Amino acid sequence: MRALYPGSFDPLTLGHLDLIERASSLFGEVVVAVLQNPGKTPVFSLDQRLDQISQATAHLRGITVASFDGLTVTCARQHQADLILRGLRAMSDFEYELQIAHTNRSLDSAFETIFLSTAAHYSFLSSSVVKEVARFGGRVEHMVPAVVAKDLQRFFNSAL
Ligand code: ADP
Repeated sequence: MRALYPGSFDPLTLGHLDLIERASSLFGEVVVAVLQNPGKTPVFSLDQRLDQISQATAHLRGITVASFDGLTVTCARQHQADLILRGLRAMSDFEYELQIAHTNRSLDSAFETIFLSTAAHYSFLSSSVVKEVARFGGRVEHMVPAVVAKDLQRFFNSAL
């Protein structure tokens, strides 16, 4: 089975990576699809995010890293995915994720969304929290892959 895991990944956290690892052993293949959203200004460019994810998942088999800028279901069709994967950290994620899942199924009923619950020890992590900590010089090595920690440090040092 091939799972499509869409997201902004600005940047990838260890929570995302844990989900990718578990999905890879459950489904065999995972396409990590990085959203290029013209309405948002990310900290990391699309190319940087693709590179960070490729490096952080190099130890895994069956991972493809791709970008998309349209509908998730269009991307799922293009990659011949069998399902859409999303993560749930807490109840607060649930309402939004349910709405997106229903929307996607209304657009193309071929795609079920499968939710994996976050590893408990990573459930406090979000890309925004990581960026806030890094912005103020806090340690992020236990929150993100090494390549991302290095890029965060470089970005916020040069922004000072
Ligand atoms: P989006 O902008 O689409 O929400 P994100 O990159 O923030 O993109 O998240 C992509 C997916 O990863 C979402 O399903 C989100 O719930 C999930 N996710 C976010 N943080 C974590 C985490 N710490 N552990 C596991 N899954 C997470």
